[in-house]
Amino acid sequence: MTEANAAAFAGEVSESSVPGFDAEVDVLVVGTGAGGMTAALKAHDEGGRVLVIEKTDQYGGSSAMSSCLLWLPNNHLMPELGIDDSADDAMTYLRGTTKGAVAEARLEAFVARGPEMLRYLVDQTQVEVVGLPEYPDYYPGIEGSKPGGRSVEPAHFNAKLLGDDFLAMRSQNLQMQVMGRLGMTAVEARMVLTGQPGGIALFAKLIFKYCFDIPWRFRSKRDRNPSGGNALIGMLRLSLRDRDVPIWLKTPARDLLIDDGRVVGLEVEREGRSFRIRAARGVIFAAGGFEGSQPMRDKYLPNPTRAEWTCGNSYNTGEVIEMGIKAGAAVDLMDDAWWGPTSVVPGEEQARMLVIEKSLPGSILVSQQGKRFVNEAAPYVDIVNAMYAHHSDADSCIPAYFVFDATYRKKYMCGPVLQGSATPDWMVRKFFRDGYMKKADTLENLAAQLGVDADGLRDSVERNNEYARTGVDLDFQRGDNIYDQYYGDAKVEPNPCLAPIEKAPFYAIEAFAGELGTKGGLLVDERARVLTTGGEPIPGLYAIGNCSSAVMGRSYPGAGATIGPAATFGYIAALDCLAKNAS
Ligand SMILES: Cc1cc2nc3c(=O)[nH]c(=O)nc-3n(C[C@H](O)[C@H](O)[C@H](O)COP(=O)(O)OP(=O)(O)OC[C@H]3O[C@@H](n4cnc5c(N)ncnc54)[C@H](O)[C@@H]3O)c2cc1C
Repeated sequence: MTEANAAAFAGEVSESSVPGFDAEVDVLVVGTGAGGMTAALKAHDEGGRVLVIEKTDQYGGSSAMSSCLLWLPNNHLMPELGIDDSADDAMTYLRGTTKGAVAEARLEAFVARGPEMLRYLVDQTQVEVVGLPEYPDYYPGIEGSKPGGRSVEPAHFNAKLLGDDFLAMRSQNLQMQVMGRLGMTAVEARMVLTGQPGGIALFAKLIFKYCFDIPWRFRSKRDRNPSGGNALIGMLRLSLRDRDVPIWLKTPARDLLIDDGRVVGLEVEREGRSFRIRAARGVIFAAGGFEGSQPMRDKYLPNPTRAEWTCGNSYNTGEVIEMGIKAGAAVDLMDDAWWGPTSVVPGEEQARMLVIEKSLPGSILVSQQGKRFVNEAAPYVDIVNAMYAHHSDADSCIPAYFVFDATYRKKYMCGPVLQGSATPDWMVRKFFRDGYMKKADTLENLAAQLGVDADGLRDSVERNNEYARTGVDLDFQRGDNIYDQYYGDAKVEPNPCLAPIEKAPFYAIEAFAGELGTKGGLLVDERARVLTTGGEPIPGLYAIGNCSSAVMGRSYPGAGATIGPAATFGYIAALDCLAKNAS
């Protein structure tokens, strides 16, 4: 090791006795999302010397920005919630949703190890989670689905425990913070944002807690009672600290080091210099997808596509996928993503996904011809698949237009704009001034502002209004199942997802073909080992999370179906590379 490199390592990891390396660990984890941190914890607890590296100056990635639900069928909280599940039911459901796109052995590994991974985190680390008995699987019509319980979410986290280290965590996406400040769990957000009983009192309590966090309030606007991604990543970070597992920020992976076909380490960059780190047992890529890379989006995703439409970490730019390809790895699902319609708010770094809004009554999503083209309350991935399927020169769907009336505006939120009863139009006029939200006295004038066909829009609204009266959406069956209704308004009858759009003024925002991250990446097996194009594992190389091809295939079976598998395969990868017989 050179003198300069020795100083930079500062004793956190061992020097390598093998010539040509600056340092040595057993397991080198690339990326600090929930999957990477889970892998690092388990690898440590299995007796490995572990180092985690992170490209940016903040840890947590998209995981920290997210709501961080984990979809884990047959988890140990379900019996306490009175919900029956089994590995067989989970496999039946996964076969139904993934439709043969994923090797059976990977699905089985996920189903078998997911509950074990959750138990491990809850019993042996600082992680605390809460089961969500009412959050249904996304496809209630598919055999093996459950009406709730498979999704769990982190409890609120006391971020005071992290001290200033909390500020080095990536902030949650603004969409996850009410008024750009308050952290809310999924359950709390549903109560507050869909106007459920108790929502206002809860909101007041959270504001009180936020305001009276003195003297922190004078230092930072970050909420030290975070939920979602900032809670789980905080708990994982604290657990790594308990174990003295180092995370090196500002340390991008640059190249795999390969000896005789085996991955033996990684060249990384630190403080402008190149370091060669030996990984005696394995390198685990956990570096997210390529949502932030416009060139990779252009190359792999359907068009049109823009990096500005992602809600995910814009620093996820796919380098490790390219490193794997260079080393002979196969890739899969590169044209796919964890899609969802997103809204781009001027001045905000990340797009917001329209998750709740699109199920709420008194709204529709239309194309440029003013036509509905999908059940708006369907899982978000299906909305964008429909956008691409219908997008053509004759009828553009990208962007589509989310249209609602004064009644919706008064009762419900839309993107960054809270319900009009709390924030009337004069309070949010900047959104009209900068063109984010359009408003007009008639549907015709709204159509003119949007460049949408007025006859088409009027026809769609009239049909919606008729369906709202009967409760049956004859075109797209909006509100027909428990998933659709989850974010509907239970007080609205006969269908909680349908209400007439009839009261002026009328409003609209644009909805783009966005995502929470891409889901194509290095092809892996059930042990998370990266496979070559010939189907052989590359010894010493693992991939998990969004830099691996998704175990969920082209589907999104339930809330948390990206982070649940990322953490599970992180756990599996750690076990595998430290197993005595590891290849
Ligand atoms: C607003 C929002 C809400 C969401 N809600 C949920 C949810 O509730 N449940 C769910 O399952 N999913 C959710 N998602 C999706 C989920 O957050 C992501 O799919 C998931 O976090 C990806 O995990 P990952 O470990 O693959 O990547 P990340 O969590 O993004 O971590 C990757 C890390 O690797 C780093 N990195 C990248 N390249 C390099 C390199 N070359 N060298 C070193 N480090 C590198 C990145 O900077 C990043 O910190 C949500 C996403 C968003 C944006």
